[in-house]
Amino acid sequence: MQTDPEDLDALQARVRAGRSAFWANPDYRPAEDAEARRDLDRALADWAMLSPLLSRVFPELEASGGRIGSDLTPVADGAFGPLPGRILIKGDHALPVAGSIKARGGIFEVFMCAVSQARAAGLLGRDDPVTKLAEAKDFFARRTIAVGSTGNLGLSVGIAARALGYRCTVHMSNDAKPWKVERLRKLGVEVVLHEADYSAAVAAARAETARDPDGYFVDDEASELLFRGYSAAAAELAGQLDAMGIAVRPDKPLCLYLPCGIGGAPGGIAYGARAMFGAAAHSFFVEPQQSASALCRMAFDAPTVHDLGLSNRTEADGMAVATLSPLVRARMEQRLAGVCTVGDADMLRWVGTGAAQGLRLEPSATAGFAGPCHLMDSAAGAAFRARHMPGAAPEDITHIVWTTGGRFVPDAAHAAFLGTAAALPGDFDLPREVA
Ligand SMILES: *Cc1c(COP(=O)(O)O)cnc(C)c1O
Repeated sequence: MQTDPEDLDALQARVRAGRSAFWANPDYRPAEDAEARRDLDRALADWAMLSPLLSRVFPELEASGGRIGSDLTPVADGAFGPLPGRILIKGDHALPVAGSIKARGGIFEVFMCAVSQARAAGLLGRDDPVTKLAEAKDFFARRTIAVGSTGNLGLSVGIAARALGYRCTVHMSNDAKPWKVERLRKLGVEVVLHEADYSAAVAAARAETARDPDGYFVDDEASELLFRGYSAAAAELAGQLDAMGIAVRPDKPLCLYLPCGIGGAPGGIAYGARAMFGAAAHSFFVEPQQSASALCRMAFDAPTVHDLGLSNRTEADGMAVATLSPLVRARMEQRLAGVCTVGDADMLRWVGTGAAQGLRLEPSATAGFAGPCHLMDSAAGAAFRARHMPGAAPEDITHIVWTTGGRFVPDAAHAAFLGTAAALPGDFDLPREVA
């Protein structure tokens, strides 16, 4: 399907004007996906291999046997606005160990790296239990893990690396929150602050690690391991839906709304969802209006958000990313249903709505709430539904809003979000085109 060039022009004008937007991917092909299924099986096997070690290193994971997971919670009618269909929150804002969705990526990559370094050095033999690595601090202390981050990836990598005994350097961008920097420094992580954005922090981390023969770089812009770690979340979701008796079939479709920065977390989960649900699941990325990197790249082939006149400035620090990962772009070409954007004011308003429901969310964690509004209440969303879920009535759709971070936000910072939200003039900037 070709998108009408006039529609695309109108969309671009909306994006440039800093309004909320919805783009349906014209190349999207809902289908069974054997390649994704094979990769997901590998991800699940890796997580299962790591779980005894995770459980040993992080006491908070003992009860779950080393499983890092979050709750799936139905939203009370009307609590997040009037919407037809069923809305559930996948609460990664409360994930243990790292307090954000990065627990599924950063911790996975650091622990996979530890296993492969220990195997290569002969420290971990074929028949040794992986828990041996909980007592290998001297081995890891000679090695460094580095990462560039807007905050949350740095937190998860830093926490994981220090727990095993690695040295760790986190390069942070100018929008990193001071409490995240402080928390890392307390753990013994070296934090380097850059006067530039996320891409510059990543470039600096990459260059510095290349000079260190004992260094390992977690490359958020190109990491297969991060992507694989995230993908396993879809299997967890499938188990939870099944346990709740919620069917997922082409006539009972599942829509996922995934906050997107560089694309690894939402891309990995969307990929896993294809593996689990085939043509019955539709994944949407949701981005801040000023950091709409996936939208710029996939709809307009613009390499950075600056090419469309956007500032890349947003309160949603986990998503202040000007470019989309090339790896994610390639994997998502036919697998991504679409992208929608949301304004900072609305994300802050949802931090408030979430608090009223007992959820501690940071602004980036709330982006997904815009998704159901775009799909159900915009003309473009209605066109998407007519094309890709013709047999499903609005009440047949299950919406999964993926909340992505917030557990570690200090009380004072959370209160400041609420104060800002309460003082905002006006109302949500969301589509209301469909009666
Ligand atoms: C990192 C992050 C995202 C987006 O993940 P990417 O892999 O950067 O796309 C969304 N929400 C929060 C809270 C994050 O920390």
